[in-house]
Amino acid sequence: MGFRTRQLGFYYVMKKCHMCLGTDLEKFLDLGMHPHSDSFLTAGETEQPEVFYPLSVYLCRGCGLVQIGYVVDGSTLYQKNYIYQTSITKTARDHYFGLAEDVCRRFGLKPGSFVVDIGSNVGVLLMGFRERGMAVLGVDPAPNIARIAVEENGIETIPDFFAAPLAGRIVAERGRASVIAATNIFAHITDLHDSMRAVDALLSQDGVFVIEAPYLVDLLNNLEYDTIYHQHLRYLSIRPMAAFFGRFGFEVFDVVKVGIHGGSIRVFAGRKGQHAIMSSVQEFAALEDAEQVYSIVRLRRFAGKVKEHRRLMRSLLDGLKQQGRRIVGVSAPAKGNTLLNYCGIDISVLDYITEKSKLKQGLYTPGTHIPVVADEKLIEDSPEYALILAWNFADEIMANLEGFRRKGGRFIIPIPEPRIV
Ligand SMILES: [Zn+2]
Repeated sequence: MGFRTRQLGFYYVMKKCHMCLGTDLEKFLDLGMHPHSDSFLTAGETEQPEVFYPLSVYLCRGCGLVQIGYVVDGSTLYQKNYIYQTSITKTARDHYFGLAEDVCRRFGLKPGSFVVDIGSNVGVLLMGFRERGMAVLGVDPAPNIARIAVEENGIETIPDFFAAPLAGRIVAERGRASVIAATNIFAHITDLHDSMRAVDALLSQDGVFVIEAPYLVDLLNNLEYDTIYHQHLRYLSIRPMAAFFGRFGFEVFDVVKVGIHGGSIRVFAGRKGQHAIMSSVQEFAALEDAEQVYSIVRLRRFAGKVKEHRRLMRSLLDGLKQQGRRIVGVSAPAKGNTLLNYCGIDISVLDYITEKSKLKQGLYTPGTHIPVVADEKLIEDSPEYALILAWNFADEIMANLEGFRRKGGRFIIPIPEPRIV
């Protein structure tokens, strides 16, 4: 049950499983209090009070879904200054164009087929589909991001949350979709049941719903706890998803592993009986059982390793500071703020963070108030160490900033264990 205030928006303690609606939830990880990880601050805002929300993670003993315990409403998370742009790295662009190619080839899509992307951001995935001759439409709740998609990338984008009434309007105007994509948004949607009703309304009879999301098995095995933040309401695995889709007359018919975001799964779902079920579905479910991802004991062991990671991280950085070394951060993704806030890394440790995205330059990290500056400063200023917060793009970042290493600088990669490279 929630409370609404003018300052905070809508927020509530999650008492039910997002998927099976069961109430047998058990907490296994508590990361403390965190500000919304994309709410980078202006200089003036750093002088003002800042809102922090609990960040903890639960297992649903009913269906096995792993989800956060406290939900901050989407209108708070996405309406103001939402500044994550998917087009920003070459790795991401190549990835989304590859996804478009995979879907077109796999299902033999004819040019002109209608493709809708939910949480389409600046339209990168849809640019991949457009290149292959598809008719495309984006839906994204952040108005400033939707505007970039339309004005800079020419991708028609509806600036709204994806819900059943909107799906009905799209069907009336454009017909049903052959493909609905939800890449890295399935974990973000607040009301999953309403969104599935909307998918049901919009998808053609033999259409494909393709989801891509960070995979729980990788999150646990690689200690990627920094991918836990308030926009990520749940951490996905096949067993709970398969049961959830079943409630809507859908089924998962194929699953593939993809490398982006430190290990994700691409899940293909459709209406029951419309697509041949691949052996991959059972193989992923069996892997999850073997990895014991539905065991509270296993999950508590993960939580213990997260605490140990904080100790190692602090000890490495504090050691360097005691030797008088200068350390800065490189790249300022949302996940970086979970790491910074949880490990207590602030301006006393990092002088500043450099970032390619102009939308973040000149702002300050939420909670820790570290100034964000342009990438060029790293080479000019030449500090001794640079902590890479977007570690999933470490290779590309290190290649782009080769000048820093040539001047004697060293990079620190924080996950799965902090190391100097
Ligand atoms: Zn459940």
